[in-house]
Amino acid sequence: MIPFSSSSLNRQNWQHELATAFTDLKQLLNYLELPQNLHGGTATGGNSFPLRVPRYFAGLMQKGNANDPLLLQVLPQALENVAVAGFSLDPLEDQQAHMGNGILKKYHGRALLITTASCAVHCRYCFRRHFPYQQHQSLRGGWQSALSRLASDPGISEVILSGGDPLSLSNERLADLIHGLERIEHIQRLRIHTRTPVVLPSRLDQGLIELLAQTRFSLCLVIHANHPAEVTQTLQQQLAPIRCTGITLLNQSVLLRNINDQLQTQVELCEKLFSIGVLPYYLHLLDKVEGAAHFYVSSESARQLHRSMQAILPGYLLPRLAQEIPGADSKQLLQNNV
Ligand SMILES: *Cc1c(COP(=O)(O)O)cnc(C)c1O
Ligand code: SF4
Repeated sequence: MIPFSSSSLNRQNWQHELATAFTDLKQLLNYLELPQNLHGGTATGGNSFPLRVPRYFAGLMQKGNANDPLLLQVLPQALENVAVAGFSLDPLEDQQAHMGNGILKKYHGRALLITTASCAVHCRYCFRRHFPYQQHQSLRGGWQSALSRLASDPGISEVILSGGDPLSLSNERLADLIHGLERIEHIQRLRIHTRTPVVLPSRLDQGLIELLAQTRFSLCLVIHANHPAEVTQTLQQQLAPIRCTGITLLNQSVLLRNINDQLQTQVELCEKLFSIGVLPYYLHLLDKVEGAAHFYVSSESARQLHRSMQAILPGYLLPRLAQEIPGADSKQLLQNNV
């Protein structure tokens, strides 16, 4: 027998899983025992944002349920092609905020680094679905230009790895980046925004855990689960060693019509997250990106829902209801108490 180390086994697992994700709508619908042409979608939704669903995530969906809340997050629908006033290609004006080199600096002390264009899953509501990733140099080759930029701004104490999804990168690429960041003295905190653990838990492999455990940074891993069915025992098992290293685990989610806009769903999500060691951080209002209008929940309904959540949940399990407004100096919290 060849003595594989557990880390090389794990690495093979997640990369293999990623390579065998569903990219063909027919195959996904066959697997789910659903009719073709469900909700009128084609695999690309008529645009350049193709279907992608890891088999693990598809396995959490209920077979035969055309309105499964996990399926609806990834299913291209004919509705995506309907133009709706107020929904645009770049609702957050990110293209104006970026400094080049893949860096977005909007808020005091924090810089967000777009590390890659890829994600393990393609979420139809994604506000970056039209982002011109190819214009960002950080995505090609080394990290040097991004690192020089960060090094030249002593006002930056926190770096947020985003994308796309930073955990689409190999451990080697991530290690390169994190070691480069460690050499910049004024950076104290590192945050990783990722949906990968939720859709491909095997990504949290030994090599990644070691990398995160060894860094000098105060670390925060912000996952992205929208529905209690995404918070599984497998996720819990994979997050456990990360918890043990003392990394802060948070969740952000997006409020999505017919998916998680019911009180019961939100309460269950927050309680389940805590049961696996994750605190709810943000509940985002949908960013008005073209093709996602069918997911939109109005700010009035969102406030009402949040108020009901506040009446039920302990304060520490209540996510902040937030909205991003281009040009503002922080995310905007929707206040309830007036
Ligand atoms: C959301 C975001 C952050 C982080 O904001 P917090 O309120 O600290 O979570 C930082 N930079 C950019 C560009 C962002 O979009
Ligand atoms: S994982 Fe995040 S960045 Fe990627 S498609 Fe989904 S919401 Fe967008």
